[in-house]
Amino acid sequence: MEYQYWNKHRETMPREELKRLQVERLTWTVANALKTPFYAERLKKIPVDSIQSLDDLRRLPFTTKHDLREGFPYGFLSIPQDNVVRLHASSGTTGTPTTVYFSREDLGRWSQLVARCIFGTGCTKSDVFQNMISYGLFTGGLGFHAGAEEVGMLVIPSGAGNTTRQFRLMQDFGTTVVHATPSFLLHVESKMQEEAIARDSIRLRKAFAGAEPYSEDTRQRIQDLLHIDVYNSYGLSEMNGPGVAFECQAKQGLHLWEDAYIGEIINPDTLEPVPDGEIGELVLTCLCREANPLLRYRTRDLTAFYCEPCVCGRTHRRLHRIKGRTDDMLIINGVNLFPSQIEEVVMAMPEVANNYSIAIEKEGALDRLTVHIEVHAHIFRDDTRPLNALREKIRKTLQALITINPRVELHESGSLAVSEGKAKRVYDNRPKDV
Ligand code: ADP
Ligand code: ZN
Repeated sequence: MEYQYWNKHRETMPREELKRLQVERLTWTVANALKTPFYAERLKKIPVDSIQSLDDLRRLPFTTKHDLREGFPYGFLSIPQDNVVRLHASSGTTGTPTTVYFSREDLGRWSQLVARCIFGTGCTKSDVFQNMISYGLFTGGLGFHAGAEEVGMLVIPSGAGNTTRQFRLMQDFGTTVVHATPSFLLHVESKMQEEAIARDSIRLRKAFAGAEPYSEDTRQRIQDLLHIDVYNSYGLSEMNGPGVAFECQAKQGLHLWEDAYIGEIINPDTLEPVPDGEIGELVLTCLCREANPLLRYRTRDLTAFYCEPCVCGRTHRRLHRIKGRTDDMLIINGVNLFPSQIEEVVMAMPEVANNYSIAIEKEGALDRLTVHIEVHAHIFRDDTRPLNALREKIRKTLQALITINPRVELHESGSLAVSEGKAKRVYDNRPKDV
């Protein structure tokens, strides 16, 4: 395969050279961080001049989401507010949203990173790009928008939701590439069936899917149903937004752009680094952000590094697809469960349609897990035997994997709630401890 690079020198530079660049940028970043009220205080007792290598990074304290909330609104700003040209906020999936600030140069560097991701999937300026994700404070909209313009694609800022209008735009302008959450892409496919949109009336060939975890089977499903190529896109507002890590055409993990970020993976309990290749919490330091530097930010996202070089020739290490967040973990009758474990079983089954959700209730002293799953309409017939057999098959497969005996409820395709932004999969209805 011919791989194309947005910035070949940067993307394929020898690792030794890449590490030297990281150290150089790290020293700059630490000095810059000292200009923020938060780090001026936090790093008071740390001899920051001694941070001269990547190993020295470990002498710096972590920064957490809690710190960001403490520092709200301007505690992490390192430049005069006059020089800030934009703010964004996280989606607030796990609590109060946090804000990030950009200088004009920061915006330029961010769009270069996103352009690098987009171009690396084989897109060119001839592509027509429909950005089916929320604009506004969420970074996914404007972030991708700017990166795609940088590549020179025709950008349609359609925003999220409204599938009928999305189809119209695709048909009218010959959209070839879209960006959306994986759950919205599945919804688009269901709607295409429902509205009898002929596949050959649209020219779609690629999608960037991110902002929420999804399994490899979900990717396959979207690819097979829509006949497109799907690339995993990872980012978080604290680190600009999209453009942090992205799949290349080899689709064997997401290249973390190590000239712009230093990635570490730690055990979230001991805070020690995990051995190479093991799963842990991703910690990121941004290396080329002026307005809003962040050192060793604990993302709470669980992943691992692939240690071998990628066939595409890029030297930046790759991350495994994100398994979920440390705080997504559910404890059900004492057993730990990640929603992604359920998705892995459910989305691999051909009878299952495109949506599912998880509910947890308290029944007496026990927790009761119910998995709601949409299945294809033909399974709902007068004869309930196939439905019962399917329910039992799913229940058994889940139980074998998660060691919890779930209740399984099957629903007709299109009947479970769909969110326009990040999918809401878990409804934990247990009374909260006070
Ligand atoms: P919030 O943390 O409030 O959701 P963001 O909008 O900044 O705010 O979302 C970033 C988070 O979204 C990441 O930390 C991660 O948990 C999740 N995320 C983003 N992209 C992916 C992806 N490709 N796979 C899995 N999770 C992702
Ligand atoms: Zn690669």
